[in-house]
Amino acid sequence: MSDRNADLRALVRTIPDHPKPGILFRDITTLLLDPVGFAATIDRMAEAVAGPFDLIAGIEARGFVFAAALAPRLGAGVLLIRKRNKLPGTVIGVNYALEYGEDRVEMHADACAPGARVLLVDDLIATGGTAIAGAELIRRAGGVVTQAAFAIDLPDLGGADRLRAAGVEPVTLMAFE
Ligand code: AMP
Repeated sequence: MSDRNADLRALVRTIPDHPKPGILFRDITTLLLDPVGFAATIDRMAEAVAGPFDLIAGIEARGFVFAAALAPRLGAGVLLIRKRNKLPGTVIGVNYALEYGEDRVEMHADACAPGARVLLVDDLIATGGTAIAGAELIRRAGGVVTQAAFAIDLPDLGGADRLRAAGVEPVTLMAFE
């Protein structure tokens, strides 16, 4: 499994001890800089998901890049899921626990029509906390989310399993220990 999409894995840079000691940060900015690699990433994500979708929901900030590239490919619009207090209109939000403290994701309350089919997208799934909060947010808004796509999975942290247990099938291209 770990050599899936080895060409793309080779374009992800690992930065030790960011943002704090002991974390291996999987940096996708180097993948984005490579035109062939980024195009292949979007192609393979688009092929791996099972549409149709009305909206592609990107999670701030790196999820935006993948969502925006996927949306026209999949004939869908882009829904922005942002950190607290960034969106100008009336928002709904979901709080979720971090290792220390709490975070919050928000979306415009009117961004998603009832019954809209939404694909959730982020660069990476670790514990799954962010993606599960994003899925709950979309569901509260009336959207239907059954799949989520990530360039990178950190399987040791169990997020993909947790997301699946929450009723959302994860689609991932590469795994890092
Ligand atoms: P989680 O909620 O634990 O699944 O964390 C996922 C979010 O945190 C994503 O938006 C990732 O961009 C970011 N993230 C978590 N761990 C890492 C890591 N080791 N390298 C890069 N990004 C990470």
